[in-house]
Amino acid sequence: MRSENPFSVPPLTPDDWAFASRDAMGEYISRGGVIQLRSARGCGGHCAFCTHSGEQKHPLQMRSLRLIADEMESLIEAGYPPVFNFTDDEFGDTERIGELCTLLRQRRIRAAFSLELRPQTVLKTAQKDWLALHEGGLCRIFTGLESLNPDTLRCWNKPHNPEALLQAIRVCKSSGILCETGYILFHARSTRQGIMEETARLRREDMFNPKTALSRMILYPGSHLHAERAARGTVFEPLAPNAEVLYLKWKKDLGELFKAWGKLALRLPGAACRDYLASGAAELPLLRAWLDRVNALAYAKITGQEVTAEETELLLRKIQAVTGGIPS
Ligand code: SF4
Repeated sequence: MRSENPFSVPPLTPDDWAFASRDAMGEYISRGGVIQLRSARGCGGHCAFCTHSGEQKHPLQMRSLRLIADEMESLIEAGYPPVFNFTDDEFGDTERIGELCTLLRQRRIRAAFSLELRPQTVLKTAQKDWLALHEGGLCRIFTGLESLNPDTLRCWNKPHNPEALLQAIRVCKSSGILCETGYILFHARSTRQGIMEETARLRREDMFNPKTALSRMILYPGSHLHAERAARGTVFEPLAPNAEVLYLKWKKDLGELFKAWGKLALRLPGAACRDYLASGAAELPLLRAWLDRVNALAYAKITGQEVTAEETELLLRKIQAVTGGIPS
């Protein structure tokens, strides 16, 4: 007789998830944090480099908006500020965000929230919809631009038009919503010239930062590309030799700036929420000014402009003073 595996139980659905206990939330918020929430599991995209692309066990499953609003309401009633960041890979379509805004309005909850959207959703959203969502509490989005090259995007099974997405992002930003993007600069198809051209374009679009400069394709089990590369025994895609040399140089030149950038950038969701609620005073503009300085210095370094070691050191010391209480 076959014995049953006691661990072989179906995973909880998002509606079965318990509210997190959040024991250290007060401390976290006092350091500039924001309340992290989940609204879904999985993603409806099929990007070839992403673990979701090969993941059949956990297809996109949405959590009921009523339960999300319940959790937000209970946290606010517990005395926490109404600043939320949804950590899902995909929140859903514009209508779902609008429904959350409606629920919050019905409960007289004034909250600010940040979330992640697939490019297709950003492309489909008109300015009047962004304005309505912003009015309802949406203050920041993150989306995956990933490449400016349509051929590369097709290889990654990302069907969006990068120029159209750049325009859609401008529209989103002009509606008062902070917009951040994911990008993969170093990958198997990268050429040195292409990397320099993309970097210059990203800088002009105000999308360049040390993270982008050091973004390299990493493949994890579950992705379609990982299955293709597994035989080579590495999670990194092989780069063209001159791209590899460039990557290693930038990694050395930007290492410290990248760390400083990370300490600042992790505060963006919370700062955007507090700015939205008009309780953040100058927090968001100040944070963005520091990020601008890091981005400008990083760009100057990789494009061979004259940057002294003292200049870099001074900026790093100032950022350390600003972010001193923030864990890395
Ligand atoms: S990369 Fe992003 S959009 Fe693509 S499948 Fe993964 S989570 Fe979804």
